[in-house]
Amino acid sequence: MIGLTGGIGSGKTTVAHYIEEFGFPVYYSDDRAKTIVNDNEDLKAKIKELLGEESYDENGIYNRKWVAEKVFNDKDMLHQLNEIIHPAVRIDFEEWVQKQTKYLVFKETALLFELKLNRQCYKSLLVTAEDNIRIKRVMDRDHKTYREVEAVMEKQMPEKDKLKMADCVIYNNTNLEDLKEQTELMIFSIE
Ligand code: ATP
Repeated sequence: MIGLTGGIGSGKTTVAHYIEEFGFPVYYSDDRAKTIVNDNEDLKAKIKELLGEESYDENGIYNRKWVAEKVFNDKDMLHQLNEIIHPAVRIDFEEWVQKQTKYLVFKETALLFELKLNRQCYKSLLVTAEDNIRIKRVMDRDHKTYREVEAVMEKQMPEKDKLKMADCVIYNNTNLEDLKEQTELMIFSIE
């Protein structure tokens, strides 16, 4: 299992899609977490207990925006929320990985190093790019201001720390064609 990660706007999801195009399965941890918070009743109850009934709307759908605002400046609350969500994602991943038959599988997660998930991986693959480029891409993608994107970035683990820990690095400072080529070279050279 290869852990695929990168900070906000680094291009990790784009790389994950290329990896799938090259025939390897990818588990999207953050996407799966979004599904699990709506599907898993036990989890729902725990989240409501921690954050309140407003964590879900009247249709029982996770109120992402509300939760994000609630935990954004509360480290302890965020930690407790993660302690509820992450074990459920881990179980879901284990079920998924049992069904895979390829010699390599990829787990895409924004928090590979933060959660020390790299220790469970054969190798870690970091996608990185200069801060300004990442901010610009997210501004275009999400229609956010420079400062909004920068604020999220500032809360993430510094890039220099991730670079020290990563086994393999893709530098995504140019165009998509180059990114795809680098991805291909990287995944077929993993031994
Ligand atoms: P997040 O953690 O914020 O979800 P991410 O790391 O998954 O971000 P992507 O969504 O893959 O990043 O890329 C961010 C945006 O930048 C996307 O709109 C993507 O299409 C674009 N992008 C990524 N790489 C390049 C590139 N080399 N050239 C042009 N656009 C790019």
